[in-house]
Formats: sequence, structure tokens, C-alpha cells
Amino acid sequence: MAWLLPRLIAGLVALLVGGALGYLIGSPVHAPVLSMLLGGGCAVGVVAALDTLRGVRLIAWLRGPQDESAPRDAGFWGEIGYRVERAIRLREQGAAHEKTRLAQFLAAIEASPNGVMLLDANEQIEWCNSVAADHFGLDPQRDRLQRVTNLVRAPSFVSHLQSQRYDDAVVFRGPRGDATLSVLVRAYGDGQRLVLSQDITERERADAMRRDFVANVSHEIRTPLTVVAGFIETLSNLPLTDVERKRVLSLMSQQTQRMQNLVADLLTLAQLEGSPRPTVDRWVSVGRMLAHVSGDARSLSQGRHEIVAATVDDAVQIAGAESELLSALANLVNNAVRYTPDGGRIEIGWRLCPDGSGEFSVRDTGMGIAREHLPRLTERFYRVDGSRSRETGGTGLGLSIVKHVVQRHGAVLDIASEPGKGSTFRIVFPAARVRFLEPAPDPRRQLEATSAEAAADTR
Ligand code: ADP
Repeated sequence: MAWLLPRLIAGLVALLVGGALGYLIGSPVHAPVLSMLLGGGCAVGVVAALDTLRGVRLIAWLRGPQDESAPRDAGFWGEIGYRVERAIRLREQGAAHEKTRLAQFLAAIEASPNGVMLLDANEQIEWCNSVAADHFGLDPQRDRLQRVTNLVRAPSFVSHLQSQRYDDAVVFRGPRGDATLSVLVRAYGDGQRLVLSQDITERERADAMRRDFVANVSHEIRTPLTVVAGFIETLSNLPLTDVERKRVLSLMSQQTQRMQNLVADLLTLAQLEGSPRPTVDRWVSVGRMLAHVSGDARSLSQGRHEIVAATVDDAVQIAGAESELLSALANLVNNAVRYTPDGGRIEIGWRLCPDGSGEFSVRDTGMGIAREHLPRLTERFYRVDGSRSRETGGTGLGLSIVKHVVQRHGAVLDIASEPGKGSTFRIVFPAARVRFLEPAPDPRRQLEATSAEAAADTR
């Protein structure tokens, strides 16, 4: 009734004022009643027309986009306008807030390293993040509302999605064929499904490498172990002469040494993988290391090769871990001796390059390596000549250790080789890890120089 009373009052006031005015105007022409009625009627009509106009303006605003404020009228229509506008603005604020939250939520899913895709009850794509788009080869905009099974056709994925049993993840090759995907589906809402995808190519590769590694190590250990077991049996069952006994024991010792070498190399590799990178504040003398490894090479060669080693000033230093660097250099030099026939030449060199980097090199005139093997040489247990490697006590891990040490020191390993002509292995250390230490000035000499200068000045 609150809307009716002010109107009745306004109508009544208009009727009275209009009637009074009509009466005043009608009295001189002797028609006071008629003009009073006319005046009252007109006044009520004007009030009703004004009221209708306000209502029409409010309806026009409501029909529009409501970008501007509602008509600011007094009274009933003004009140309605104000309240409707307030309700609309509150709702708009709520909607804007929800929109922002949804955008933040989607941005968080977008930032996920895993693929996320939402499917409706008809397996149509409602939304997917860019990782899922990449995994499944989709276009997030173009493929919206497309049936996912029309776009991702891997049979294991299609049957898994349609099986409605989503306990385990399904693993299959991605549509581009270069990635292995692990996909987990979860049902939610009214038949909708959440599809989570993960690229497990690297994990699979690492697993395969681990499996290969274990198989290789087992094989490498089993062979000498079988030989030793055979010899033990021979020693215990057969009456051998002293010469035969010595021979068997020497062969057993060779096989044991082989296992020891393998275990030592495996431990070195494990240590290299598990310890932090060597810092750049521990300096090692290059000359001392060269002298050390060339000495080792000579004792291994026992005069069978011509071994030439550069002599380097103690002031030339490399930043790194001495034991690691020595192990890498020793492996290269050992290989040179082992893969170079008797009478061959081995050069162990060092040079400071113009850009400040330092290059350690081992050049031999040995059997060389065919080009196709070069990229795989640093793989664990990769051997070009398996029998020669084993005969000479190789483990197949030497260059793999070298690669690790080189990487940990920010250096680069370069291999050049020609079958029948020989090989050159170079390790190039970056300038930041190489220094030439100026000798500290001799205090006695400095004193002499100062007195000489003083004498010259007095003269
Ligand atoms: P290994 O213990 O078998 O020597 P490495 O990892 O040190 O293992 O070397 C891998 C393979 O590379 C060797 O088996 C050998 O075939 C080849 N190789 C390494 N150094 C030389 C070299 N100086 N000359 C020829 N072949 C080499």
C-alpha cells in the first residue's frame, strides 16, 4: 500500500488545487462548478501523466544495457530505480569477482606442469590447458566441444575412457609419436571427466637406462666370476703341476683385477654423480698433473711406446678437483697406451689458447676409431673393440668418467680420430678455470732494484 497512499495524496492535492483554480477562473464567467471540475480533472491528469512518464523512463533504462545510472526521480519510481540499480550493481560486482576467481583458477591449472582436460558427459572437450593441448596435439580454441575420441585415437586411450573404470593410469604413445604419455581419468559431476596427462618419456628413458646399466654390470661381473669359479673347481679337483698351478692362479688374479677395476670405476661414477660440482677456488697445477699421468703412461707402456709429454710451468693452474681431473686425464692416457700398438707414439700436450681457455690433449698413432662410433664413445659400457678392451683390463666406463669430469668442470671433450691413423682426445677448459700465476716478487731483488733507482736519482 506504500505505493498507493502518496499517489492518492498527490491526486487529491492536484484535484483540490486544480478545482480551486478552476473555480476562481470560472466564477467571472458564471460557470464556477464546471470550471472547478475541469480544473480538478486537468490537475489530476497532469499528475498521472508525470507519474506515467517517470515509469516509462525507468522501463526504458531497464530495457537498455544499464550502463548509466537509473533515472534519479523522487518518490515511488525513484525508489524503484535506485533499488533495482543497486541490486544490478551488486550482482555485477559478484559476477566480476567470480570471473576473476575463475580466471585465477584457470591460470593456476594452466601453470600446472601436467596436462588437464575437462570432458562433458558426451566426451566433448570443455576446456584444456596448453600442456594437455601439446600432449594430445589439440588446439584449445578450435577443438572446444569436439569429441575427444575423434581427435585422440590411440586405441588404449579410447577403450580406457569408455571403460568407465579409471583406477589405473593408461600409458600410450602421444599423437606425435615422440612422447610417452601417462593419462589418468577421474569422473566427476554429472558424467563429466577430468583427464590428467603427464609426459613420462624422460622417466621411461631413465628407467630403461637403469635397467640396461644393471644388466651390463651383472654381465661384466658374471663373466670373470664364472672364470674364477671354474679355476677354483679345477684347482680343487685336478692334480696340477706347479707350472699349471701358477698359470691358473695368474689367470684368476687377472679376472679378480678385472672385477676390482670395474668396481673402482663404478664407485668413481657414483661419486661423480652424487657430489656437488667442484668449486672454482681450488687451483691445481697443470704441470704436476701432466708429470703424474705421463709417469703412469710410461709404467703402463713399459717402453713399448714413444711417450712425449709437454713440460708445463707450475704457475699454470686449473680450477677444480685434483682427484677428478687426474682420473679423467689418466683414463685418456691409459686408453692411448692400450689402443696403440707397440712402437706407436703418444703425445700428452697442453696449450693456453688466445681466448684464455686451456687445452689438454692426448694424441696417439693407434688403431683409431671409425666415425660412426664417435658419438657413442662416452656411453657407459660402449666399446668399439670389446675384446681388446677386456684383454687390456678395460671396463667400458673410462670415457664415461671422462665425460662426467669434463661436464662438472664446465669443459668440453672433443674427439677426433681416423681408423688406422690414430686419435686425438682434447679437453678444453674455459678461461674462468685457467690461470697463469705470476710469481710473487722476491723481496731481496725488489730491495736491490729500489736502491739502484735511488742511486740513479742522486746521480
Ligand atoms: P674401455 O675401458 O673399454 O677402454 P672407454 O670408455 O675408456 O672404455 O673407451 C670406450 C671405447 O672407446 C673403448 O672400448 C675403445 O674401443 C674406444 N677407445 C677409447 N680410446 C681409444 C683410443 N685412444 N684409440 C682407439 N680406441 C679408443
